[in-house]
Amino acid sequence: MSLLDVNHLDVRFALRNGDIQALRDVSFSLDRGERLGIVGESGAGKSVAAFSLLNLISKPGYIAGGSIRFDGQELIGQSERALRHIRGHRISMIFQDPMMTLNPVLSIGDQMVECLKAHRRISTHEARGIALHKLVQVQIPSPEARLDQYPHELSGGMRQRVIIAIALLLDPDIIIADEPTTALDVTIQAEIMALLLSLCEKHNVGLILITHDLGVVSQVTQRMLVMYAGRVIEEGPTREIINDPQHPYTQGLMNALPQMATPGSRLNQIPGSMPSLDNLPDGCAFHPRCHFAMRSDGQRRQACYEHVPGFVTSGNCRVACHMVSEMLGYERIPAEETT
Ligand code: SF4
Ligand code: MG
Repeated sequence: MSLLDVNHLDVRFALRNGDIQALRDVSFSLDRGERLGIVGESGAGKSVAAFSLLNLISKPGYIAGGSIRFDGQELIGQSERALRHIRGHRISMIFQDPMMTLNPVLSIGDQMVECLKAHRRISTHEARGIALHKLVQVQIPSPEARLDQYPHELSGGMRQRVIIAIALLLDPDIIIADEPTTALDVTIQAEIMALLLSLCEKHNVGLILITHDLGVVSQVTQRMLVMYAGRVIEEGPTREIINDPQHPYTQGLMNALPQMATPGSRLNQIPGSMPSLDNLPDGCAFHPRCHFAMRSDGQRRQACYEHVPGFVTSGNCRVACHMVSEMLGYERIPAEETT
């Protein structure tokens, strides 16, 4: 059993005209100290997947089915009080925009002390000591002086260091980082990612890194999952997927990376855009953008238009694609329908 086991997770948004299914049949796991990347275009469901782990999806979103087991305990259906204990204490989150987490009217030290005191019986003096220690760990310049500063007095990079220090404050088992460096200057991004990676390694903290940046995923994570239109479409060891992506969508993402293209050649963008979740095409949701939906003889690959592909195993990866299953000689395996 892994530290975190997510199985057949379904998340919906209840709208006036009916429910929209934001996540369908999403399953993944994370071992202690493991680093997992979740990649895909915006709107693929990456953040919803992460937020739902701690029941942080805002209304009208709700978890419609599946299971989230953390350290042997089912999280779905837990009381808000029990989840609050797990949030921060055992699983903490780093958001894209540090200002979403930091309180602008409290000094850095006061926020950290408040956070510690909310979870532990501890004196202010002791809490300040721990806060300072964490600021030292994230290598912020002049850590002692930072305790009395306010968020607006720090640069974007320093604020994100503070966020990492807060995420580590209660020695969590898992950190979920949602596009943690997107709001930062390119020069600072690499520094912050390197810091996060080294701290996770040093303290054996599991990391779920949500990003659209395949370069970052390949440097930081050991396993990755690729999401499209609310489903996982490929999953496996990061090295294997990066070196030999099986799903046509993952192949498209790789071909769109500047460093993968021959110098001077045009970047190969994936044509079209991700369908909206309230209007998914029949069959494989990727078929309108997939050139393999047509066979080489000009005939439609009928399954792509009619059936949602199930997973097949290829090497150490699992891939949801009819073409891959055909090539591997499997019978058509439909996805386990959850609606
Ligand atoms: Fe393309 Fe068909 Fe595979 Fe979907 S199932 S990715 S449409 S080949
Ligand atoms: Mg997002």
